[in-house]
Amino acid sequence: MFVGRRMHSIKWEYCNLVRIVSAIGAFERLVDFLPDNGRILLVTTAGFTRRGLSQKVIEQLGKARVLVFDEITPNPELNDLDQATTRFVPEPITGIVAIGGGSVMDAAKVLSVTLPCGFSHPLHKVLREASGHQWQKNLPVIAVPTTSGTGAEVTPFATVWDGRQKKKHSVTGELIYPQLALLDPELTLSLPEQETLYTALDAISHSLESLWNNNRTPVSEAFATQALRLAIGAFPIVLGRPGDLTARAKMQQASMLAGLAISQTRTAIAHSISYPLTIHYGVPHGLACSFTLIEIWKQCRYSASEILNTDFVMKTMEMLEGLNLANEMNKYVREEDVVGLIGEMFAPERAGNYIMGMDRLALEKILQLSLKK
Ligand SMILES: [Zn+2]
Repeated sequence: MFVGRRMHSIKWEYCNLVRIVSAIGAFERLVDFLPDNGRILLVTTAGFTRRGLSQKVIEQLGKARVLVFDEITPNPELNDLDQATTRFVPEPITGIVAIGGGSVMDAAKVLSVTLPCGFSHPLHKVLREASGHQWQKNLPVIAVPTTSGTGAEVTPFATVWDGRQKKKHSVTGELIYPQLALLDPELTLSLPEQETLYTALDAISHSLESLWNNNRTPVSEAFATQALRLAIGAFPIVLGRPGDLTARAKMQQASMLAGLAISQTRTAIAHSISYPLTIHYGVPHGLACSFTLIEIWKQCRYSASEILNTDFVMKTMEMLEGLNLANEMNKYVREEDVVGLIGEMFAPERAGNYIMGMDRLALEKILQLSLKK
């Protein structure tokens, strides 16, 4: 029996501003989507430059038009992004290309509003000092994901980490949407096994988090359920046969669809739990936001939405059980240290989206059960 809100309100709306183009080899057509004047800032990692991807962009556009910023590391830091803003402000940049995973796309989305904003150390002022400044303009971003997990290519938010203050910030709003998500599954073929695992877990987490979410709509539910259906089929294949292009394409689609779902609902309690684990113990995001999913589901499965009791959700839970994420968590953090962070796990803008109430005691139980091997 369903005791909570049985269905979403009839009053809802949907808007996502990202154009999506998907094709094998789409990356080779990058130049077709870029402004034909000014310089293009390529945001990526040193690893992709080593593997020749930055060179391919230079070949398409010409050396004079491309500025390569390939210093992005996992979990982009507030100070580093402010420094990058200072460095690139003097350049006549007309567009940004982001090639990489969630951290690269988040960094590019942040730079797209800090570069044209006109004042120095904008993130320090806006996020750390909470100056109340609103972003006024943005540069167009083309997001080319190389992982299948964050969905950042279609969301209007970007995460900025403040290592100094041990805090996680969100830069959000319509200006943060990339202009274009360019999906080329070939770019995900070389993703190592552990990253394939963790990023796929993030996509699954996004789907479930948008289903047990107070902001869910018929549209977000449709995206989230299709994302789960695709992931159930493709996830075991990409782990076992990483070179399977069809399965890689399906995981890429699942990740993008889950991104569309959370672009409407945002995430919920599992993500709220995850952030202090990443900040204090460096637990990879996809693992930190997924090790609790089974226990959260058990708590809310009869209270949120009928969808949570459908076949494919049950299959998702079986799949998660088979992965024994408690063991994975153990590589990064001890149970008592996880429980010790409970006070920081109630980020109101995330935990408040969760369909059920959650108090300290209930959360402690979820954590303990989730970490039991
Ligand atoms: Zn996530």
